[in-house]
Amino acid sequence: MLTELEQRALALIDDAELVAWTQALTRINSVWRPELGLGEAEAASWVEARCRDIGLETFVETVQPGRPNVIAVLRGAATCGDEHPLPVPAPGLRGATLMLEGHTDVVTAGDPAAWTDPPFSATLRDGKIFGRGANDMKAGVVCALAALKALRASGARLRGNVLLGAVCDEEGDMIGIKHFVARGWADAVSAAIVCEPEENHLCIEQKGVMWLHATIEGVMAHGAMPLTGVNSAYPMARFLQGMQALEEREIARHGRSPYLGQPSITPTILRSPRPGDGEAQKNVMPARTEVVLDVRLIPGQDPDALAAQANDLLRAAVAVDPRLKGTLEVIEVRAPTRTDRAHPLVMALGGAFTDLTGQPPIHGGVPGSTDGTILNARKGIPIVTCGPGDIHIPHHVDEWVSVAEMSVAARMYVLAALRFLGVEAA
Ligand SMILES: [Zn+2]
Repeated sequence: MLTELEQRALALIDDAELVAWTQALTRINSVWRPELGLGEAEAASWVEARCRDIGLETFVETVQPGRPNVIAVLRGAATCGDEHPLPVPAPGLRGATLMLEGHTDVVTAGDPAAWTDPPFSATLRDGKIFGRGANDMKAGVVCALAALKALRASGARLRGNVLLGAVCDEEGDMIGIKHFVARGWADAVSAAIVCEPEENHLCIEQKGVMWLHATIEGVMAHGAMPLTGVNSAYPMARFLQGMQALEEREIARHGRSPYLGQPSITPTILRSPRPGDGEAQKNVMPARTEVVLDVRLIPGQDPDALAAQANDLLRAAVAVDPRLKGTLEVIEVRAPTRTDRAHPLVMALGGAFTDLTGQPPIHGGVPGSTDGTILNARKGIPIVTCGPGDIHIPHHVDEWVSVAEMSVAARMYVLAALRFLGVEAA
């Protein structure tokens, strides 16, 4: 059931504007290619201009030259409650803050000739907008902007704040969201909707990732006289067998997440000799063997404990000969995330979906990591990844987004903000 205020706010979402804005933003090529003069700056300026038009408090922060974050705040009407005591760059925020999160960068279009329409044409056809980034995730950013516009125009006296973060470099090392956290913004955020393309499913779990780099060093020798050296390949084989057994134990212990499936440990790069250790030759036993393992984690797994076990396995693999040396480096860790199905934001989004579509919400999980992973890992912020766009089409040729899904997503954000934050009587 929709309240009168909710109906009024929803009526302020203009589907024609959703299309026009998504086309405009998609037409700005925001691939990070500084050597070609490309990056997020122009897309960020476009978002900034919309935020100012809407009447939001708008901040632009330079993460790196040419790589800005745009942060905009719709301040709530709360007159009581503590002012946020933490060093938030927008002082005086009171009450809860709901973040709508998105990124302005897109991945490369690849060969433009492979596309039906030019990749940055944002062609509208059959209820879909085609273009690199239309789905991942210009449409999600636009839906968040449209929701903020409708919330502001509705005159709703929200008990808390809505904060838009349109950050750079999600497709790279996520320096945009890391900067957002480092600057203190995340300290004000109570919960976040990550507006990534999930067909408006409520993704309450995200897989974590850990990349491990193991190197075993032996002694180089002639292949005809192997006993004059120490082979690094056989101990690496023992290490990898140990890792495969560890994967089986982790699956047995943690089982399958209904949203993410089972955890995995996958060797992705295996090299001997390593690049830089000289040419590979049939009759040379190289000194070193290296492997990179792509470890995907589900909620409940502890990345630190796994890394320690990997280290023990490597020690055991090289213990057979004192001349062997094993080193294990943790290249990156992004922990898995899980938000309770009963969390108020999940309930608010689910109820919104049902009220708008007549269907029960679909809960899901994200196989990769997103900016939300950083918000959750570094600040414990509950996140729901939920936005318009086919789940499988990001990064593909002929990427597209459904206008009908955008229409629902923007309205879900409006209702979720009203219900999660609450409204003061006029
Ligand atoms: Zn994305």
